[in-house]
Amino acid sequence: MDIGATKTLVVLCDTEGRELASASAPSEAHHGGAAILDRAAALVSSLVPDRCALTGVGVGAAGVVDPADGTIVVTGDSFTGWAGTAVNAELSARLDGVPVRTENDVNAFLLGELSTTDRHLLGVALGTGVGGALYVDGRLLHGGGTGAGEIGHLGRFGPAPCTCGRIGHLEAYASGRSLARRYAEATGRDLPAETVAAAAHDGDPEAGAVFEDAGRFLGEAIAHAAGLLGIAGAVVGGSVTGSWSLLEKPLRQALAEQPLLSGAPVEVRLSRNGPKAVARGAATLVAG
Ligand SMILES: [Zn+2]
Repeated sequence: MDIGATKTLVVLCDTEGRELASASAPSEAHHGGAAILDRAAALVSSLVPDRCALTGVGVGAAGVVDPADGTIVVTGDSFTGWAGTAVNAELSARLDGVPVRTENDVNAFLLGELSTTDRHLLGVALGTGVGGALYVDGRLLHGGGTGAGEIGHLGRFGPAPCTCGRIGHLEAYASGRSLARRYAEATGRDLPAETVAAAAHDGDPEAGAVFEDAGRFLGEAIAHAAGLLGIAGAVVGGSVTGSWSLLEKPLRQALAEQPLLSGAPVEVRLSRNGPKAVARGAATLVAG
């Protein structure tokens, strides 16, 4: 299950992780934890009327999540009354005691992208914001109370204001919102990021420039994070990767300019699970 600010997506998988069915509905993001979980439980019931058939429910949730009991510790302003919700216990109670495990959504995304040989992998999600996750020595890194892997709030790439109130962070350049904002500042035209991408493909130089910056800064941030943690691979997902062809070249160029000490650049790959990556990854929390 993927509980995001705009939408809750439930994907039913078999124990091998193969998708059997899916359902989604708008999240009750501003109506508090109980309403959010009522909606989520109703979606599960619509797919699996017989709870006995369920091994468990894995949840990927936006915000900082305590992985021990699935409590939402911190959220942004896209939720109201979600922080403090003990998701594992409260969702399980709505589903006749089916086991529930909850992770931060980008952590869940990263779990779903691991291949059987991956021992170390960095995950980056480019959506409304920029999220990160770290898989090191064969396990997720959780860090302390503010969460590990917040690559979106690293760097000083320029003067752009970040959503966190500080200046120049990666998120201020590489999120969907910031791509749209930077294009509007350059041209006076207020367009969503996907339309800016289409303009870039049509040769609009300002549109091309904002994607060029996003790709380059993303590459620099990945190179720093990977070098610090000794991670030679990264996977990138999220809605902005719909414009991967605009991001990939400057991203790979930046990585080639800042290789690991071994001399090899960090290997970057695109998410294989697409828009269902968080839900598919969350299923691995309870598989087997
Ligand atoms: Zn920031």
